[in-house]
Amino acid sequence: FEPTPLFAAAKGDIAVSFEFFPPKSDKMAETLWASIETLAPLQPQFVSVTYGAGGSTRERTHATVERIVRETHLPAAAHLTCVNASRGEIDDIARSYWDAGVRHIVALRGDPPEEGADYVPRADGYADAAALVAGLKQVAPFEVSVACYPEMHPQATCPEADLDHLARKVDAGADRAISQFFFSADAFLRFRDRAAARGIAAEIVPGILPVSNVAQTRKFAGQCGAAIPDWMDELFEGLDHKPAARQLIAATIAAELCGQLYAGGIRHFHFYTLNRAELAYAICHLLGVRADRKAHR
Ligand code: FAD
Repeated sequence: FEPTPLFAAAKGDIAVSFEFFPPKSDKMAETLWASIETLAPLQPQFVSVTYGAGGSTRERTHATVERIVRETHLPAAAHLTCVNASRGEIDDIARSYWDAGVRHIVALRGDPPEEGADYVPRADGYADAAALVAGLKQVAPFEVSVACYPEMHPQATCPEADLDHLARKVDAGADRAISQFFFSADAFLRFRDRAAARGIAAEIVPGILPVSNVAQTRKFAGQCGAAIPDWMDELFEGLDHKPAARQLIAATIAAELCGQLYAGGIRHFHFYTLNRAELAYAICHLLGVRADRKAHR
């Protein structure tokens, strides 16, 4: 028996982080908290909570992050976008996070509320994520993560310009870049290598999206520059009414991707959980990330 790179990876040298979104209802809040309870013993390096498009979840993001800080031992990160807000408003939000004990911000530009519209910065706002990072560092010494795009941001003129912009974010003080989801380990590893060759020293963390619903993912991927390969459609063909089989396939695909990334030297994986614990938990288990292990930093 020759272990695949994935199973060979079970050495306890892997860091993980989990991303959640703020719940809209009591029922969704119950699901989220059950997921956080399930994933917490895996000792993630951090957990993060997204900020709705155009700042639409400002209060709910704040309440969720604050509750994580208050009720768990988990290091919490708040996503913050600068679209549709003045610099003063953003600085106030950041200050209130700092006062609530939050030390880590995922700093994003965000998208305009109307789907597909061009991004036009406000005159009194932060122009882009690089300006936001610099602004946050003025407010307090936050740890800052930013976004990156292995398959290029749709608004970038070319891959080099996209990488130049990532370099600007890191030069402004970003500590790490978390990637958009992707399904080609090669695409990610090439991007990581190009970033290193460009002199970007910050850690580039792959964002892993376990997919159990291709149609939904395709709709989202259309707006964010991530390619969905044809083989994925084929794998899910005929399984519309077979949710358990879809879950198993989702875990298999994501585990294979993580194994290839591990073989390429990746030791930190960020999971887009969609507030569900099962898939992320199973993939972490395969990666050797076990409950109450010694936290890997
Ligand atoms: P930026 O990095 O500022 O810009 C995006 C791209 O535009 C750049 O890659 C670059 O190609 C180009 N660009 C921008 N400014 C310049 C410039 N001055 N010069 C040259 N090129 C430029 N959205 C939310 O609303 N809420 C969230 O919580 C959220 N979380 C996310 C988490 C992750 C890990 C990722 C990958 C994305 C997330 N997003 C979120 C989506 C994000 O807001 C969008 O992808 C948005 O279009 C770009 O945000 P950004 O921070 O990458 O912007």
